[in-house]
Amino acid sequence: MSSNIVVAIDGYSSCGKSTLAKALAKKLHFIYADSGAMYRAVALYFIRNNVDLQNHKQVVEALDKIHLNFHSRDYQTHITLNDEDVSDEIRQMHVADKVSAVAAIHEVRVEMVRQQQRMGKSKDIVMDGRDIGTVVFPHAQVKLFMTADPKIRAERRYKELLPTNPAMTLEEVFENLAHRDYADTTRKESPLTRADDAIILDNTDLTPDEQLEFALDLVKPLIH
Ligand code: C5P
Repeated sequence: MSSNIVVAIDGYSSCGKSTLAKALAKKLHFIYADSGAMYRAVALYFIRNNVDLQNHKQVVEALDKIHLNFHSRDYQTHITLNDEDVSDEIRQMHVADKVSAVAAIHEVRVEMVRQQQRMGKSKDIVMDGRDIGTVVFPHAQVKLFMTADPKIRAERRYKELLPTNPAMTLEEVFENLAHRDYADTTRKESPLTRADDAIILDNTDLTPDEQLEFALDLVKPLIH
């Protein structure tokens, strides 16, 4: 059995999962992997190439042409889609609107999970997403399930997106989060759910530093 440490962070959209995951990985010198970025990059490819989500053949053929890679620069997510850096474009609303439908497709999930499991095979890693503690790494040594008040989440995401999406409204962001939460928790394929052994972290009233302390207290005792 490999002895690398896997930290799985799951939770609703815009709960601060990636902020915590990045800070934790940086502090502990672990790899950080943003699984949501992978689903977003697939969604972007499908949008650009007019892939019909109902058409199984088109979906499978498209997946075969998609090559994703992470390039870590100071623990920011830099993801390339067929060698093009799409890190900024995948955060745009047209991708956010489509990604949950793409992530609900069985073939898409099988391929993403395969790639994610490979990343966590031999290295210490923090991965955030929706099914990391339940499906991707059910034996992760540390599992966190993050949640926060939906209004606070929408405000946080709105502030983050505004510089690159000046026409967007807070209501649109709120609606998009509500829609993704609903789609992610009710889909047939690996719905977002808390693993039995995941620790709940409600960060509505917590600062990023307090969240980091909380997570470090769980991971540090495992490091030899
Ligand atoms: O984490 P992020 O909000 O960037 O994820 C975008 C979308 O990708 C989610 O709303 C969800 O539909 C999908 N996703 C998923 N499984 C993961 C990570 C993300 O289904 N492990």
